[in-house]
Amino acid sequence: MNTYDESHQEEVRSLIEQLSRYQKAYYVDNQPLVSDTEYDRLFDRLQYLENQYPSLRFPDSPTQRVGSDLDATFPEVRHTIPVLSLDKAYTDSELLAWIERTETKVSRDLGIVIEEKIDGISIVLYYEEGYLVRAVTRGNGTIGNDVTANVKTIASIPLRLNEPVTLAVRGEVYLPKDKFETLNSQMEVPYANPRNLAAGTIRRIKSREVAKVPLQIFVYEGFWEGETDFKDHLSILSKLSSYGFRINSNFAYFTKDAEQAKRQLGAAGLKGYAGAYADIASYIKEHTSKRASLGYEIDGLVAKVNELDVRSQLGYTAHHPRWAMAYKFESPQAQTTLLSIDLQV
Ligand code: NAD
Repeated sequence: MNTYDESHQEEVRSLIEQLSRYQKAYYVDNQPLVSDTEYDRLFDRLQYLENQYPSLRFPDSPTQRVGSDLDATFPEVRHTIPVLSLDKAYTDSELLAWIERTETKVSRDLGIVIEEKIDGISIVLYYEEGYLVRAVTRGNGTIGNDVTANVKTIASIPLRLNEPVTLAVRGEVYLPKDKFETLNSQMEVPYANPRNLAAGTIRRIKSREVAKVPLQIFVYEGFWEGETDFKDHLSILSKLSSYGFRINSNFAYFTKDAEQAKRQLGAAGLKGYAGAYADIASYIKEHTSKRASLGYEIDGLVAKVNELDVRSQLGYTAHHPRWAMAYKFESPQAQTTLLSIDLQV
């Protein structure tokens, strides 16, 4: 094991303190103190030090748990399945290396779904016998806040499904960019971005105030109670769509060969881009330039293993699933900073 000196220990403690402060400002106060890029840089440095010196991995480290947005104003509810963060890649080669490593680990060719990473707030919708009974924030991943009355104001969320199923549906609640511009211009204290305004709204006490904000949702995971026939993520998306949920059609499906990807996507009855692994880098590049023209904010893409048995085999760390990887864009705040530096030079 590497031996650390006092300066490493001090740096780790200081990073934990700094990141915890930034987490509170971001998740609880909805007024971030630094850009996501700066936050991710500090987080990665902490992770690096902890990997180098495992005895400096403290239980209160932000790398060991999900950043909490729990709010004492709302009742607390335990999630049936923990709601975690995502592991992150910053280049297409890091993402491709993760796919390769994962395939080697399970000794199988995999299908990879790449979705947009919507920059909103995570919500779990719990349905019992087809009825929406609870909507819960991510909270600390294990326990979230019950915000059912507020979430019910979002018209695109079905209150009753066409089958009497019991399941948990995960999605991202967001505020479209144009609606944000209009609302924010009327605010005494404007929010930095649509995510912060959406997060503040979902925790308002009065649901009639929430109803005035045109929040939207995209759902992206479903966990049914009991046995199901689903073998892959594509079938889940297809089923959720048939229940009437809003699925983001801006996604792609990749396998080793493009023809196979096309066939599988067609069989699931889904519209999306189908390609081969060799197309992933250009898909990311194209999507990065498309970002500004979308009607909603995204802060990256999420690559997910399609096969559900492989997901079970890979499992989870305390912080993220091992079957998914986020590809993070540089945050707009960081881009602005870089641009202003460029202009000054
Ligand atoms: P994450 O970046 O690890 O991503 C996980 C979340 O992505 C999920 O909980 C889900 O809500 C969301 N998501 C959106 N689209 C999705 C999709 N298609 N599939 C699956 N999940 C999807 O999020 P996190 O754990 O909340 O936070 C970590 C990130 O938040 C950091 O990397 C940083 O960028 C940002 N952050 C910033 C500050 C700051 O001060 N600026 C502070 C804390 C966190």
